[in-house]
Amino acid sequence: MTRIAIVTGAARGIGAATAQRLAADGCAVAVLDLDAGSCAATVDAIADAGGRAIAVGADVADADAVARAVAQVDAELGGPTILVNNAGVIRDNLLFKMTEDDWDTVLSVHLRGAFLMSREVQKHQVEAGWGRIVNLSSTSALGNRGQANYAAAKAGMQGLTKTLAIELGRFGVTANAVAPGFIVTDMTRTTAERLGVGFEEFIEARAAEVPLQRAGTPEDIAAAVSFFCSEGAGFVSGQVLYVAGGPRG
Ligand code: NAP
Repeated sequence: MTRIAIVTGAARGIGAATAQRLAADGCAVAVLDLDAGSCAATVDAIADAGGRAIAVGADVADADAVARAVAQVDAELGGPTILVNNAGVIRDNLLFKMTEDDWDTVLSVHLRGAFLMSREVQKHQVEAGWGRIVNLSSTSALGNRGQANYAAAKAGMQGLTKTLAIELGRFGVTANAVAPGFIVTDMTRTTAERLGVGFEEFIEARAAEVPLQRAGTPEDIAAAVSFFCSEGAGFVSGQVLYVAGGPRG
């Protein structure tokens, strides 16, 4: 049977690779991002590979927009039973320079966004008696200089994941988290820019710290998400999988 999946923040980076991977796995995929127009490249890539996808525009931190987005997916593809909470932003700064807006924005997109999306999608999962939720955490959940807001959000994603696993397990729904290490995307390009380092140089320096001696790719993360979403992972729930080229956590 065709499962219906929603991947948030799927216009680019890890979300785009995950949407493409889930489509290749046989899911019909809602590619959700702030602006539906920005989802076109991901939707086209899925269609070109023979898959089925639609673009959905929504701010995951806006409850009304989330309700409209999930209703649109239900109407156009069917009830969503796979949810990947991937949308994210960074507003890095050392604590003494971090503004309230930096704090609120990051907590809002990651945590409030994952809460609102999960609350809306679980209705369809409970009705189906089957579901998968995968939340994007990060190695930054273990603490990272300049990321008090982001580290708090990503540690929060792990607590949210474990609680969703406990509450939704009786309905056949699993909830797990993937915690990436350094992955080459626009997000890490922004970090390099903030530090005034060239992106290639930044990648090389980060890769040298990784036991596998390379930076991660969006596809590395998509593969881990794909496992948690698979039929075979039905007894794996409440777990945090660090995908960082070496041991973490
Ligand atoms: P990215 O390239 O910056 O992509 C993030 C996507 O999320 C963008 O398309 C962005 O849209 C979208 N987005 C932002 N705010 C949103 C909102 N309120 N509603 C809907 N969509 C929104 O980031 P990435 O590197 O692929 O990261 C994806 C996830 O992995 C994030 O949760 C990130 O924290 C996590 N992660 C990344 C790394 C890494 O090294 N890259 C490591 C650990 C964890 P706009 O472009 O319009 O802003």
